[in-house]
Amino acid sequence: MVIELKNVGKTYNAGKDEEVKALSGVDLKIEQGEFICIFGVSGSGKSTLLHLIGAMDTPTEGSVEYNGKNIAKLSDKEQARFRNENIGFLFQDYALIPYRSVEDNLKIPLYFSKFKASEFKEITNKKLEEVGMSQYLRRKVSSLSGGQKQKVALARALTCNPSVILCDEPTGALDSKSSEEILNLLLNIKKNGTTVIVVTHNMMFEDYSDRNIYIKDGHISEA
Ligand code: ADP
Ligand code: MG
Repeated sequence: MVIELKNVGKTYNAGKDEEVKALSGVDLKIEQGEFICIFGVSGSGKSTLLHLIGAMDTPTEGSVEYNGKNIAKLSDKEQARFRNENIGFLFQDYALIPYRSVEDNLKIPLYFSKFKASEFKEITNKKLEEVGMSQYLRRKVSSLSGGQKQKVALARALTCNPSVILCDEPTGALDSKSSEEILNLLLNIKKNGTTVIVVTHNMMFEDYSDRNIYIKDGHISEA
């Protein structure tokens, strides 16, 4: 899938008569299988950009196109299906359900997918294997370390075989050893042909990505 942002802008209404221009004039073309990192200080517009790339939000200017199609033109239901089938998300705080098992967490996106219940077990096993967490299938998420939780979150992001994985500060809460493990897993995912887009403060990523994008006050530049 080719993702293309054309003159994208995003202005938030932050209360009465107050507008925040979080992004403007963003032109960006992302080919299938690229590993892209986005760097910028807090408040520069990184998460906004990632949400727009992932069709979690719609731009106030310009368009985001997937293989030439503007997803903002689809209904909410069609957009939700598009995200389920094509996009995986990874967040700094894992966004897992802590009091449920690893297996239960991995099944959640599958309930909203085209996969049959009879296939769930095989899929969850395979995805956990990919991140080296097979032995934790029945563990309660709350009993895992941060690094282990992020690996489970990554397995969950992969459950529906997305063509793109979007990561918002995925190592922001991790020690350096766990951060390196997550980076290596993301590099493996890229090797399999999945597009990987990472917003991060972790400069370790800079040397491993195909392209680095820097964002300042809502404007991007590429090095
Ligand atoms: P980053 O991820 O780089 O820290 P964000 O994309 O979260 O930056 O935010 C960019 C700017 O937009 C900031 O000034 C932030 O306060 C503002 N912003 C983000 N989300 C909203 C929102 N939902 N409503 C109003 N302002 C927002
Ligand atoms: Mg952010």
